[in-house]
Amino acid sequence: MNKEVRVRFAPSPTGALHIGGVRTALYNYLFAKKHGGKFLLRIEDTDQTRFVPGAEDYIRETLDWVGIQPDESPWNQGENGPYRQSERKNIYMEYAWDLIEKGYAYYAFDTPDELDAMRQRLTAARVVSPQYNAITRTQMKNSLTLPEDEVKERLASGEPYVIRLKVPRKEEIRLNDMIRGWVMVHSNTLDDKVLMKSDGIPTYHLANIVDDHLMGITHVIRGEEWLPSAPLHVLLYRYLGWEDSMPQFAHLPLLLKPDGNGKLSKRDAEKHGFPIFPLNWEDPKTGEISEGFKEQGYLPEAFINFLAFLGWNPGDHREIFNLDELIEAFSVERIGKSGTKFDINKAKWFNEQY
Ligand code: GLU
Repeated sequence: MNKEVRVRFAPSPTGALHIGGVRTALYNYLFAKKHGGKFLLRIEDTDQTRFVPGAEDYIRETLDWVGIQPDESPWNQGENGPYRQSERKNIYMEYAWDLIEKGYAYYAFDTPDELDAMRQRLTAARVVSPQYNAITRTQMKNSLTLPEDEVKERLASGEPYVIRLKVPRKEEIRLNDMIRGWVMVHSNTLDDKVLMKSDGIPTYHLANIVDDHLMGITHVIRGEEWLPSAPLHVLLYRYLGWEDSMPQFAHLPLLLKPDGNGKLSKRDAEKHGFPIFPLNWEDPKTGEISEGFKEQGYLPEAFINFLAFLGWNPGDHREIFNLDELIEAFSVERIGKSGTKFDINKAKWFNEQY
């Protein structure tokens, strides 16, 4: 690779870091170090309604415990840090306006009741996923349908508005995922996503793209649950004029329940009595404590060895790797394409080897 590799782990502080999240951090770290690059930590805390006190510290303590130190982060105040989105709010606004100016985004004034009514109308008409899109936006109150003077008046009067992305009609959006290969999505299936909320706070989509660009991120390695958002992100890169430096995407397959039947959850861990969080976590709302791998006696070396094998393998018979050996052996090509079943016996086995 000729450009310096820069990856990021971008958790939202909405609760304890689940083992799937630590695996994402680990794969990002291994990839960066393998290519002599940088691993950044960015706290994506724009959604204040989902903010959980203590979650940010928990993320830091977890990374400390497993020994994967970010090269730049809100804590080490790297030269472009701190990377906490709530502290970068002004940056995002500028790009939302830029999109409006170029005609790729628009103001929308619809009230929650009007949006509900629209969804109900569509549901009654048997539309499977009711959306604000090229067809329905024509019936709504936004700067594409209202006369220019009225839009100005509404904006000047302080009426609440959001900024939405103007998703094109009938376009095939493609991206070449490092794990999935070519993914193609028809733009008609996408919503005109809100980029800026009425309180002036950007949504995940806008903040994430702007930050990835400004932080020079070359590879986005994240959970598969973000794959449906990726086509929208491709559009944002294009409209912001950054298509040439768009990062490469790698969407990691899900961690599955022990029986392989669906996504692994906290409830499965409770049901089967195994940990799902790396460290003890006390839920700030209920006071309930979930015991972590650390407190159950797992060694950090064994834990990361176990994590690395949840979806990746070195292609030979070796199983015991320290962090340096994992860096040496790691490659995205050897990440499996399908989900991996969580098996606590495997974790125990790794722990016995140390
Ligand atoms: N903030 C998102 C999360 O919590 C990050 C998704 C991404 O890596 O783009 O998972």
